[in-house]
Amino acid sequence: MLLALRVAARFATRPIPLDKGAIRQLADRLAKQVATWAARQPPDLLLGPDHHMLDWSWEAQVVKGEKMHIHGFFISEPTKSPNLVIGAAAFKPDPFDFEVEGEAAIRIRLNGSKPFKDFLDGEHEGTNGLRYQINNVLVHELSHIAEFRFLQRKDVHRFEDSEEGKKEYYNSPTEVRAYMQQIVDEIMPKARSFKKFVKPVSTHDFVMKLLHTSPRWKQVQPYLKPHSEALILKGVYHELDAAGLV
Ligand SMILES: [Zn+2]
Repeated sequence: MLLALRVAARFATRPIPLDKGAIRQLADRLAKQVATWAARQPPDLLLGPDHHMLDWSWEAQVVKGEKMHIHGFFISEPTKSPNLVIGAAAFKPDPFDFEVEGEAAIRIRLNGSKPFKDFLDGEHEGTNGLRYQINNVLVHELSHIAEFRFLQRKDVHRFEDSEEGKKEYYNSPTEVRAYMQQIVDEIMPKARSFKKFVKPVSTHDFVMKLLHTSPRWKQVQPYLKPHSEALILKGVYHELDAAGLV
């Protein structure tokens, strides 16, 4: 209990120290798996709706030093979104559902309105690429899993598509921490060169300008209450400080 409290206190103002290298490797593997599958389909045919396909499993250290078994799979869903990956969810498998095993499960949703050829390896690179988008949702969902595991939390917040629903979702403590994680992940790789390039007038100016390059920050920020926004800023400052950039 004491440990759980200590861990909780430590996690409150900074991102959970996820093993980002291992997560990137998993994202690479999954992008290849999807590409191999897509290559076997008629290139111009749309993915369409599908349930539970392309299973994968991952035995890894989500948080350094702790091994766990995660089961994952993909589904596809037609949508107007321009992205290849339209969302993901982490959950604890139902012990009576034999299709999903492992200590935790992740469902990744692919855009069913895109043709199979869009999912081929190397088709889109950078932030439009499958690899990047899978990595991005994995970071979010794995931070939930790490939190469930270490803090024994069970409250998964579902996204509701109303203004009130969004406000509640984005300000729930577990979502604040998961988005903090994704935002940090989006800004850190470019932080150093960005600082040289924009020549900020102050630390605050640097952090705010840097944040505006994060798609996740732009998505979440309009809904944040001051307390949640302050928590994310603390997490961002912590990471920039650890990298010697503020
Ligand atoms: Zn979430």
